[in-house]
Amino acid sequence: MNKRDYYEVLGVSKGASQDEIKRAFRKLAKKYHPDVSKEPDAEEKFKEAQEAYAVLSDEQKRAQYDQYGHAAFEGMNGGTGFDFSDFDFSDIFDGIFGGGFSSFSGFGNRRNSRNGARDGNDRLMRVNLSFEDAVFGTKKKINVTVNEECSKCDGKGGHGSHTCKTCHGKGVVTREQRTILGSFMSQTTCPDCHGKGTAFDKICSNCHGDGTVRKNKDLDVKIPAGVDSGSRLRLAGKGDAGINGGANGDLYLEFVVKEHPLYIRDDYDIYLELPITITDAVLGAKLDVPTLYGNVKLNIPSGSESGDKLRIKDRGVTHVNSSVKGDMYIILKVCIPKKIDKKQKKLFEELSNTNLKTSDFKTVESYLDK
Ligand SMILES: [Zn+2]
Ligand SMILES: [Zn+2]
Repeated sequence: MNKRDYYEVLGVSKGASQDEIKRAFRKLAKKYHPDVSKEPDAEEKFKEAQEAYAVLSDEQKRAQYDQYGHAAFEGMNGGTGFDFSDFDFSDIFDGIFGGGFSSFSGFGNRRNSRNGARDGNDRLMRVNLSFEDAVFGTKKKINVTVNEECSKCDGKGGHGSHTCKTCHGKGVVTREQRTILGSFMSQTTCPDCHGKGTAFDKICSNCHGDGTVRKNKDLDVKIPAGVDSGSRLRLAGKGDAGINGGANGDLYLEFVVKEHPLYIRDDYDIYLELPITITDAVLGAKLDVPTLYGNVKLNIPSGSESGDKLRIKDRGVTHVNSSVKGDMYIILKVCIPKKIDKKQKKLFEELSNTNLKTSDFKTVESYLDK
């Protein structure tokens, strides 16, 4: 599905202030809220606006979006994009609908269903890698902090149970909402039992009823050859634990690769600037060049210039999950010697007396005062 630009969705400029963004969203929310709107595609429009607002109202997420577009949140939540089901819109809706308004029914239920099952959140972690580890792959211990199922209550959140007094076991509560747009009935998940219909006799003291506890642990991760800065590796089910039978979230590792003192990497190609002497440039030479896979003899053609690009095929980086390799490119840099000895000076003087010409000089020469 092609997503619309978030700024376009809200109808604001790229430089819009937080105030403008909030105002624009409130206007759209009022127009498209599925509980009040008569528009046929209100729900879609409302969700679209909610998502745009959740991102742009958060300066950090906005910066990510400005830099990477929708790709900034791709791969999260099984490819559905940025997850905003946990985002708190209450201050927005309070202002419009007169307080106490929660997300419309049907929204957010993917993560918080009526029987209380809740999927764990996805987690994103940055991992620093050396240039070589990114190119050749490695095994690494990664220290992560995620929510794990509480062992004291087996993730239930408490001990013993009785019927919830707030919803009488139904798991939902119906409320009349009085708003500036008139009053209407809305049904939401019971806030006291979170839809389970039962309450605990005793809340678990270890997890305080959450069913999960923060845990710091080491994971052994195999990082494939060929990853680069910004690449993401998905570790299925290694994110936060689900609650009441909900699925575990995924853990995403995003790599930050250190620069190499010599090589410059462009995707799967490797660039190396190779300094050569003036004589090698003029006469040509066979030189040893260090590649990722050991030295290679490189033929420098006679008459080479600074900036000339020579290709060494298949000496670049191996593509992730395939054996295809990129190429290596050698960029020549002809160096003029700063210090020469007597003999060299004499030879250069002799050379100078041979009336050495450069064909490029012709154009300039035609402008000289004769
Ligand atoms: Zn209840
Ligand atoms: Zn517990």
